[in-house]
Amino acid sequence: MADIKSLIESQRVFFNSGKTKSIDFRIEQLKKLKRVILDNETNLHNAIFADFKKSPFDNYSSELAILYIEIDNAIKKVKRWAGFKRAGTNLANFPAKSYIIPEPLGVSLIIGAWNYPYQLSIGPAIAAIAAGNTVVLKPSELPAHTSSLIAEIINNNFDPALFRVVEGGVPETEELLNLRFDKIFFTGSVNVGRIVYMAAARHLTPVTLELGGKSPAFILDDANMAIYVKRLVWAKFFNAGQTCIAPDYVLVQESLKDKFVKMAISEIKKERFSVENSNYVQIINERNILRLSKMVDSAKIVFGGGFDVESRIFEPTIIDNVSFDDAVMQEEIFGPILPVISFKSLDDVIREVKEREKPLSCYIFTVNKQLKRKILNEISFGGGCVNDAIMHVSNDYLPFGGVGESGIGSYHGEYGFKSFSHYKSILEKSTWFEPNLKYYPRTALKFTILKKILKLM
Ligand code: NAD
Repeated sequence: MADIKSLIESQRVFFNSGKTKSIDFRIEQLKKLKRVILDNETNLHNAIFADFKKSPFDNYSSELAILYIEIDNAIKKVKRWAGFKRAGTNLANFPAKSYIIPEPLGVSLIIGAWNYPYQLSIGPAIAAIAAGNTVVLKPSELPAHTSSLIAEIINNNFDPALFRVVEGGVPETEELLNLRFDKIFFTGSVNVGRIVYMAAARHLTPVTLELGGKSPAFILDDANMAIYVKRLVWAKFFNAGQTCIAPDYVLVQESLKDKFVKMAISEIKKERFSVENSNYVQIINERNILRLSKMVDSAKIVFGGGFDVESRIFEPTIIDNVSFDDAVMQEEIFGPILPVISFKSLDDVIREVKEREKPLSCYIFTVNKQLKRKILNEISFGGGCVNDAIMHVSNDYLPFGGVGESGIGSYHGEYGFKSFSHYKSILEKSTWFEPNLKYYPRTALKFTILKKILKLM
């Protein structure tokens, strides 16, 4: 505890020295971070394979590549992001100019989740450093090899007063949360998100909460069924379904349901999402295997359903004839189980979705513009895709985040910079002119003029 306290004090002293305000300094740190990741690519592949058998191919495409893109983008654009922004000036303040100065918040705490351990911890740190903050990073303790490798490569290469990794589980995170930070960025479950939010409230610390939820996928026609199924199956079973924005369940027009299920099964086989293959990872721990096994109603399994606690493998599983009352529909699945719910009335299923917590994502597969607009208009969710699933996360021109129980705030690209910044508003007045209107005496004539001017604004 004493160590953590003095670490935060040293980061505060460093932040107050103004060093992180320099854009050149930020770029230098980001370049160093990229070099450190590049130099350790093989170690990063090995560590994640040791934790849950994620292959170098998948690790590169879903973790390292995203970090490189975020770093390169920040290096290229941070000067512009951090620059003064001109703003308009209203008539009441004439003559004056107005502008906004982005400034770093200060000492930030980033708490990561385990399912994409590099992207979800180092990704926010890139945004924090680009915005001129110092960083205390607490990766998830569950993938032990990645957690200790992240600590090793960051702590061996960065000044702890700027960027320090603190490893640990619940007790260590609780200790961190007892201390005062200027920003907390949390990725994880809704329940822990609440704990973080309450801890942040003690110091009125701003938060970004990247949480989870049940993300629906709508199949509304079969105009492009082969491509719908291909994309949806990949998005669901990649990382064995342990993706916060994975399509949690499918809502399919009743007349298309059998066709969808048949094609989904054949696509799982074609993509070789199976125990023997390098694109199929382990479930993170025994607790989660058992949690998943309790969700499945064995009478409704149409594909898969097998699992092995020791090897932590859960087969890709499809369950059919599911209703909103089934066990699998009561919590986020976060695993390779795909429930299929068929519907006759789109209005009815939209109402069912809206009666539940706002999802992190929503996916709409259709060529029908009206139906697409209807869903986009009626359902509130964090972000999503039309005719694809999960790929919006890879476009850093889009803010990534939830709404309601699926999260607060967003990041990626400039949105990450914004979430670690305060936008300081400045009105700079000229001194050559000062109307007497607001000063004593308050006459009836002044009141009339004042009302006229205020109406003009
Ligand atoms: P989690 O909430 O269990 O853990 C997240 C972090 O919180 C870890 O670093 C952990 O050490 C810490 N933690 C756990 N319990 C704590 C407690 N009682 N007090 C303080 N800290 C505590 O989540 P997880 O299992 O790592 O991740 C799964 C969840 O995260 C899913 O709900 C998923 O949807 C969500 N998620 C969201 C995103 C996103 O970007 N929105 C990304 C990945 C995962």
